[in-house]
Amino acid sequence: MFRYERQYARLLDAQDELAPYREEFYLPEGTIYLDGNSLGLLSKRAEQALFDILQAWKTHGIDGWTSGKYPWFYLSESLGEKMASIVGGKPEEVIVTGSTTVNLHQLVATFYRPTSERTKILADELTFPSDIYALKSQLKLKGYDPEEHLVLVKSRDGRTIDEADIIAAMTDEIALIVLPSVLYRSGQLFDMKMLTEEAHKRGIIIGFDLCHSVGAIPHQLHDWGIDFAFWCNYKYLNAGPGSVAALYVNEKHFRREPGLSGWFSSKKAKQFDMALDLTPEMHAGAFQIGTPHILSTAPLIGSLSLFCEVGIEKIRQKSLALTRYMMELIEHELAEYGFTIGNPTDDAQRGGHVYLEHPEAARICKALKAEGVIPDFRTPNGIRLAPVALYNTFEDVWQTVQILTSFRKKSPTSKRSESGR
Ligand SMILES: *Cc1c(COP(=O)(O)O)cnc(C)c1O
Repeated sequence: MFRYERQYARLLDAQDELAPYREEFYLPEGTIYLDGNSLGLLSKRAEQALFDILQAWKTHGIDGWTSGKYPWFYLSESLGEKMASIVGGKPEEVIVTGSTTVNLHQLVATFYRPTSERTKILADELTFPSDIYALKSQLKLKGYDPEEHLVLVKSRDGRTIDEADIIAAMTDEIALIVLPSVLYRSGQLFDMKMLTEEAHKRGIIIGFDLCHSVGAIPHQLHDWGIDFAFWCNYKYLNAGPGSVAALYVNEKHFRREPGLSGWFSSKKAKQFDMALDLTPEMHAGAFQIGTPHILSTAPLIGSLSLFCEVGIEKIRQKSLALTRYMMELIEHELAEYGFTIGNPTDDAQRGGHVYLEHPEAARICKALKAEGVIPDFRTPNGIRLAPVALYNTFEDVWQTVQILTSFRKKSPTSKRSESGR
């Protein structure tokens, strides 16, 4: 059937409005890169921005803080304003700073205010471990035993979390909720708007880790009333390994004193007064701590310009089309050979990657790499495949499924299934 042939993939690519953006990226030679949800690729614009910042250092020395193409002193704020458009925040609600985990520490230090009734933090058992470690250490800092005060919503199937179970766990002992937007393994996308409404009905503050949705999925952080959010910029946003992260604080909380302060929490006009009492900024900038890592921020300038130019809605549409196409091919070619699609298949609940499960996932990932496909193995049985809207093609997806199909013909375990199990 034509739908399952290479020609059809080529047709989809020919109709793809975003196809020209592939030229903007450095694609590792001879590979199909499907790991953009772990580390996005370098774009020419990101590279140029890094060169520009180096040039400013070369030519201006310390004056680079206030002069040059992108004065460093205002870079975190100016990038925050640009990012606000892709996460649906107001310009002053977003700041580029820190790392994901550090920003989580900052936000919990700021928003976790246990009272005599409400002492517990609610999270889920499938979240990224770094987030759990941070939550546990914040509880210990306040003198609470994480065994008792960290409530983790359980998964019923080991892949996803039932939103009704999250709501049922929003009891009157909960002071704070921290959830991911998208689960890093199965790619389940939560209804952040609904969960925020439910939390607020019960008087609970709620924040989200957007690492696996930012740059892939539109958000309306402000309109949804989310209290805070944080994310990294090196996955779908392609700002480079260890690039500086970002956070969002709803404007209704601008009066809150940062839990972890430093001189970059200051009102900018007062920062160099060097007073011993901090006057915090009255926007998200207050949640910065120290000197921004300018060289690790620089690539984001170029990378973000791509997202602002294309618009996040179009990126989401293409991403959904790529993952839908991938699932369709997998079901057609591979379903009988021990592969299970572990991500939610509904568009409204699916993030930017496909999560394939197979008992021999580790071996399959190795074999994919040997064939030039870069997947992402998640122990014990997960293969994450992220076709990225800005630089992957429908033909990449088709080719990947063909390669997977070629393994099944060689594999002794699948022979068994071929002979009728
Ligand atoms: C990638 C990721 C992180 C990484 O945190 P860093 O501090 O950037 O190392 C944290 N949480 C989630 C959900 C992630 O996907």
